[in-house]
Amino acid sequence: EKFKQGLTKTRNSFSEKVNDLVARYREVDEDFFEELEDVMIQADIGVETVMELIDKLKFEVKRRNIKDTSEVQSVISEKLVEIYESGEESSAEMNIQEDALTVVLFVGVNGVGKTTTIGKLAHKYKAEGKKVLLAAGDTFRAGAIEQLEVWGERVGVEVIKQGAGSDPAAVMYDAVQAAKSRKADILLCDTAGRLQNKVNLMKELEKVKKVIEREIPGAPHEVLLVLDATTGQNALMQTKTFKEATDVSGIVLTKLDGTAKGGIVIAIRNELGIPVKFVGLGEQMDDLQEFDSEQFVYGLFA
Ligand code: GDP
Repeated sequence: EKFKQGLTKTRNSFSEKVNDLVARYREVDEDFFEELEDVMIQADIGVETVMELIDKLKFEVKRRNIKDTSEVQSVISEKLVEIYESGEESSAEMNIQEDALTVVLFVGVNGVGKTTTIGKLAHKYKAEGKKVLLAAGDTFRAGAIEQLEVWGERVGVEVIKQGAGSDPAAVMYDAVQAAKSRKADILLCDTAGRLQNKVNLMKELEKVKKVIEREIPGAPHEVLLVLDATTGQNALMQTKTFKEATDVSGIVLTKLDGTAKGGIVIAIRNELGIPVKFVGLGEQMDDLQEFDSEQFVYGLFA
């Protein structure tokens, strides 16, 4: 239900346009496909992905001898799911350690919803009975530490922090020690999101990761890049930058409720090869959903 609600804008915009096309064309032809291509590009599915999709559709329409445009609609969903899932092997599931500490590092530029996502995830894992700790690794942005503390209080989990301007790597060291001594199940780590200086960003992430790796072999178990869906193609650019800076294992796409361009999910997976693990569908604690490609694609049309 949440999923469907959060996708309302994208669905309305996308399926209305497709419905309109179906009504206007009735019979499948070259012009129909051309207009369909435009509708998909407007939904930010990504040019490469749209071309692949249109090719697959044309092939399928021929193979099944489909003449009626109304029959194309279900083929679109089918092929979108196929394209999404053919992206690569890495799964949308979180790499959670059984009976051991799982460390998740969050990266992304300021304002995308990193802190909110950490709060929502802390809530989710706590509700599952896990002991969760937060690490205030964004020591750079004014107010970032306090904001994380607000979430910590709201959710009822401890935040490991130092003062503003302190060394993020030192905060991580503290956080890892605290997680070990408190026998935490999950450590969620915030990081600074300044993109203005790519070299600094890379150095800082590198340093933070090294501390975590040294203290816990195999960690961090996930590096989640948080992206704001409302920024559309900009989100793709950010992904490229962060991919160069560190090994991103998954994406959290926030603010899907505030955009008609939810197709960006498919573009990111298909063009950059990183699975979306969660989507943010609102500002509240439980407005976070595990990503499910079928639910998502069928949510675009249902
Ligand atoms: P950060 O700078 O990356 O830590 O971003 P914040 O977590 O502070 O979020 C920035 C703003 O986006 C806040 O006003 C959040 O309430 C809002 N926000 C975060 N996630 C979502 C979401 O999924 N949907 C909506 N509508 N707003 C969100």
